[in-house]
Amino acid sequence: MQPTSHAFKQNAHEALENPVLQEALGGIRTGWQAARGRAAGALPEFEQLRDTGRDIKNHVLAHLDLYLEAFTAKVEEAGGKVHWARDAAEARTIVLELCREADARTVTKSKSMIAEEIGLNPWLEANDVKPVETDLGEYIIQLAGQPPSHLVGPAVHMTKDEVSDLFHKHHGGERLEEGGALVGEARRVLRQRYLEADVGITGANFLVAETGSIITVTNEGNAELTQGLPRTHICIASIEKIVPTMEDAFTLLRLLARSATGQEFSAYTTVMTGPKREEDLDGPREFHLVLLDNGRSKMVGSAFQEMLRCIRCGACMNHCPVYLAAGGHAYGWVYVGPMGSVLTPQFVGIEEAHPLPNASTFCGRCEEVCPVRIPLPKLMRHWREEQFNRQLNPPAARYGLALWGFVARRPRLYRLATGMAVGAMRLLGGRQGRMRRLPLAGGWTGTRDMPAPQGPTFMQAWKKRRGAGS
Ligand code: SF4
Repeated sequence: MQPTSHAFKQNAHEALENPVLQEALGGIRTGWQAARGRAAGALPEFEQLRDTGRDIKNHVLAHLDLYLEAFTAKVEEAGGKVHWARDAAEARTIVLELCREADARTVTKSKSMIAEEIGLNPWLEANDVKPVETDLGEYIIQLAGQPPSHLVGPAVHMTKDEVSDLFHKHHGGERLEEGGALVGEARRVLRQRYLEADVGITGANFLVAETGSIITVTNEGNAELTQGLPRTHICIASIEKIVPTMEDAFTLLRLLARSATGQEFSAYTTVMTGPKREEDLDGPREFHLVLLDNGRSKMVGSAFQEMLRCIRCGACMNHCPVYLAAGGHAYGWVYVGPMGSVLTPQFVGIEEAHPLPNASTFCGRCEEVCPVRIPLPKLMRHWREEQFNRQLNPPAARYGLALWGFVARRPRLYRLATGMAVGAMRLLGGRQGRMRRLPLAGGWTGTRDMPAPQGPTFMQAWKKRRGAGS
C-alpha cells in the first residue's frame, strides 16, 4: 500500500465531511469502547493482569534472540519449516515461492496485519495467485478495493447499507438488507473458496517458544478453516509475537479479548503445532512459518522498544478522539490510531509520516487503556522531537516555537506579551466572552467560537498566592 500519511490533514478534513463515515465511527463509542469498560470493570485483577502482560513482553524483548531460536527448534521438531524474512520484499518472495511450490492458483487468507504490512495481496495478484480474504471484514474491504481502517474491525468505516450494495454488486441476486442475511451470504460464498484453495495463509496472535505452536484468535472460525483445509499452511508473523510459555500466551489472551471487543475470550482460540501428524484426522500436510523482522530488531534497545509490546487489540484507537473523528484511512497506511502514529514513521519513515505524531490531543486515554501499558504519548513525543530536529514541521510552527522560546526566556518580556495578548483576547471576546475570529487560530475559530480568557492570568494568580503565603 502506497502511504499517504503526509496528507493526514487533508485526509482528516475529508473524513470529517463524510456523514456516512461519521455515522459508522459513532458505533465504536457505543460498541467496543463501552464493552471494554464493562469487561475491565468486571475483572477485579484486570489492572494486575496488565502489569503481568507488560512484564511478559518486556522479558521477551530482553531475550528475543533466545526465544526465537527455541521457537524455531520446536517448529522444526514438529515437522514445520521456518523462513526468516529481513524485510517486506523478502517475505513476499518467500510466500510466492511457497505458493508456486504448492502449484497454487487460489489461496485463502485469514486476517493478518503482517500481510497488509508487506503488501501481500497485490503481490500475489500480480503473480497470478488469487488471494481470497475469509475474515468477514477483510472480505468486505477486499470487494470494496479498500485498505483496513481498524486493527480488529477492518470494515468498521462502512455502514450496513454500503455492505448491502457491495454484496449485491459482486454476488448478484436479491439485495439483502438484514445483517444476518448478509453474513449468511458471505458464509455461503466463502465455504466454496475454502474447498478450492491450494494454500491457506494466516497470521498469528502469539508464537509459543516452549511448544513451537502458533495461536490464532477469531470470532468467525475462519482461521481454523484457512489453516486446516488446504494442503499447505503458511503462517506469516513478526518476531515480537513470541511468548515464552503457553501460560504466558493465555495471560495475554485474557487481556486481548477484553481490550479489543470486551469479550472474556474470543469465540475461537486455536493452538496449532506443526503440520498434520499420522494420527491426526485432518490438517495441512505442510506447515511453513515466515518470520518477519522489517526493522523490528532495530527497535529493540531504541527509544521505541516499548512499542514492540503491542498485542494489536485496537483499544488505543477505540478511545482516541482523533481516530474517532477522522477514521483509520486518514492515517494513510496500514497501522492507524495512536499505535499507528508511533509505528508508521518507523516503517515508512518520519519524512513521509511526519503529521502522524501530531494527530493526537495528548489526552492520554490511549495509554490509560493499553493492556500492556505502552506509553503511547511519550513515544509520539519522541517522534515530534525527531520531526522538529529534522525541520519537518511547517515553517509557521517552527518560527512560532522559536519566538515563544525567545520570549519565554525573558520573564519581563513574557509578562508584558502575555498581559497584552490576554487583554486583546478579552477585548475581542466582548460582553459575551467568546471570540468569533482570532489571528493564527483559524483552525479553531473556523468551526466554533473560542472562549475569551476569564479571571487573572496564571502569573497574576501565582503572585497573589505567593504574597498571601509570605
Ligand atoms: S498500542 Fe496497546 S492499546 Fe494500542 S493496539 Fe497495541 S496493545 Fe492495543
